[in-house]
Amino acid sequence: MATDLQRFMSGLKRRNPGEKEFHQAVEEVAADLIPFIKAHPKYDELQILERLTEPDRIISFRVCWQDDQGNVRTNRGFRVQHNNAIGPYKGGLRFHKSVNRSILKFLAFEQTFKNSLTGLPMGGAKGGSDFNPKDKSEHEIMRFCQAFMTELYRHIGPYTDVPAGDIGVGAREVSYLFGQYKRISNQFTGTITGKGLAFGGSLIRAEATGYGAVYLLDDMLQAQGQGLEGKSAVISGSGNVATHAAEKLIDLGARVLTLSDSSGFVYDKAGMTQEKIDWIKDLKERRRGRIKEYADEFGAEYHEGARPWGVTADLALPCATQNELNEGEAKTLVANGCIGVSEGANMPSTLDAIHVFQNAGILYAPSKAANAGGVAVSGLEMTQNSMRLSWSKDELLERLRKIMAGIHEQCALHGRVEGGRVDYVKGANVAGFIKVADAMAAYGVI
Ligand code: NDP
Repeated sequence: MATDLQRFMSGLKRRNPGEKEFHQAVEEVAADLIPFIKAHPKYDELQILERLTEPDRIISFRVCWQDDQGNVRTNRGFRVQHNNAIGPYKGGLRFHKSVNRSILKFLAFEQTFKNSLTGLPMGGAKGGSDFNPKDKSEHEIMRFCQAFMTELYRHIGPYTDVPAGDIGVGAREVSYLFGQYKRISNQFTGTITGKGLAFGGSLIRAEATGYGAVYLLDDMLQAQGQGLEGKSAVISGSGNVATHAAEKLIDLGARVLTLSDSSGFVYDKAGMTQEKIDWIKDLKERRRGRIKEYADEFGAEYHEGARPWGVTADLALPCATQNELNEGEAKTLVANGCIGVSEGANMPSTLDAIHVFQNAGILYAPSKAANAGGVAVSGLEMTQNSMRLSWSKDELLERLRKIMAGIHEQCALHGRVEGGRVDYVKGANVAGFIKVADAMAAYGVI
């Protein structure tokens, strides 16, 4: 006989055919929420989970722009406004050739739970385009951002929906997007976060996601009487999240062995240093180079077309993209003695990989908890914009540390399982759900 979860998922798959990333994200959450809702029937009567798996709205639009040769190019733009029960829609924009409805629906769904976990008043959204910024000139990127915002601007605003960056949308793209928004709306408001410091941005926004993922890992280890000092770590990715996670791990005394990009990974047996991380930031942000160059520069190993999960380490931080760590790789990590995983990227582990970590009883922080530091500091950027002031770096670091500690506390409160162990997946799902569900219940049937 089909279980409640199987019945729920078969309906969801029928209504959302072919959207495998969306199915995966919902299944991970529903597996914890269905038993919780059974024990709290008011959520069932109000069909909260059914409503939460249908986005408030999805906007899809054409983005037309001209390349440097004068050719007309057409891309597809999206904004998935998933849920605004507890605050304005909030979530990043991704520019990557793989972007489609399914990926943005999974990201927006996750964002709703993540934003709730931060304790700040933010709903969930995500957007982006299948535009590939990699082979484009500076001028082409500017023209694309302006064309994208020319449509998006009518759907966003400081009390409606506040986008930010994500893969392929860094400081440069956010600046072009905000510039165009400001120009068309004729308003200087905090409608986009991740802005430059000269025009309303917040200190530590760039660092926040990576630092937050490390703070949560530290809290989890400390709850078991351990710490980061002396631990070895493997990291994937070499973008914003990966480099800042590496930086904070080094700062707290851990040894970082790997970083990667979509072509391969580097293994630095000597361990990375702050100077080496600064070199990578320059390579990736300014020179737009490949991680392979690190191996040539510092005499490290380079593994073309491979992922770093076969390297023996105490800790693993997947910080590149979704589904970049599968069941076999999870088994290898566990067999090699890995004791803690913190997900900087969104949904980097497949469902089977998550089950391997859970069954092995190792510390595993799912992305909606582990990478919530980024959107938390975006929330603080919104607050600073509304108050028309800027907080100091120390004040923001302190707030970020407290928000991540609060997430750890909530996971521990709602994720305690037999034997006293904390299941951080269950904890994050239930804690994130309660606040949103109670707000939806209060509004009645809308
Ligand atoms: P960046 O664009 O700065 O970096 C992305 C990194 O991941 C690059 O090293 C990139 O390699 C690699 N990558 C991207 N796609 C793939 C792929 N298909 N296969 C292998 N590697 C890939 O992005 P961010 O660091 O900002 O984001 C990384 C992850 O963190 C994403 O999942 C994002 O959603 C999540 N996240 C980011 C937040 C933020 O504040 N930036 C907040 C919360 C979550 P290459 O250069 O070769 O493409």
